[in-house]
Amino acid sequence: MKGHKKRLDSFSPDRSWNLFLDRDGVVNRKLPGDYVKDWEHFEFLPGSLEAIRIFSGFFRKIFIVTNQQGIGKGLMTAEQLEALHRQMLTVIHDQGGRIDQIYYCPDLEDSGSLYRKPNIGMALAARKDHPGIRFRESVMAGDSISDMIFGKKTGMQTILISTDRLPALKHASLIDLTFPDLLHFARFLMTK
Ligand SMILES: [Mg+2]
Repeated sequence: MKGHKKRLDSFSPDRSWNLFLDRDGVVNRKLPGDYVKDWEHFEFLPGSLEAIRIFSGFFRKIFIVTNQQGIGKGLMTAEQLEALHRQMLTVIHDQGGRIDQIYYCPDLEDSGSLYRKPNIGMALAARKDHPGIRFRESVMAGDSISDMIFGKKTGMQTILISTDRLPALKHASLIDLTFPDLLHFARFLMTK
């Protein structure tokens, strides 16, 4: 846990900060080799709803930024994804949480899309839609290195959600802190 401890002091968000959240593998369970195309296949990860409730009392704005190339591949439609998101938000609200806006990128991985993580189009869109957002006072939490690159390109603090400590060792310069799940991160914030 040396890397973890080393960076603790530099991680100092306060209640004026904003949170950018990846979705698959962070809020909900990933489907191996498939996309979450409908509500029946959407499963909140243990503790993620409680974590979002805690975040809602801490962060100024909370955004989800999610790559959804299943749309670009024709495996689901934007309407289906948006319907799924409405159902997800209903549950989050019922559990006392809040997401201020969801950004998704439908583009294919090889499209070169500036909107697709690790490119920063979704962060720029959030800043345009919500004036006053400062990336230096924002946190990106995700389960992939592309999320960490997205965060670092914009100057955010980065949280890797992973039970695997290898990425944190291999990509130390991209990752400020690692937690096994969102709830561990939320509980850590409560100590701040
Ligand atoms: Mg993910």
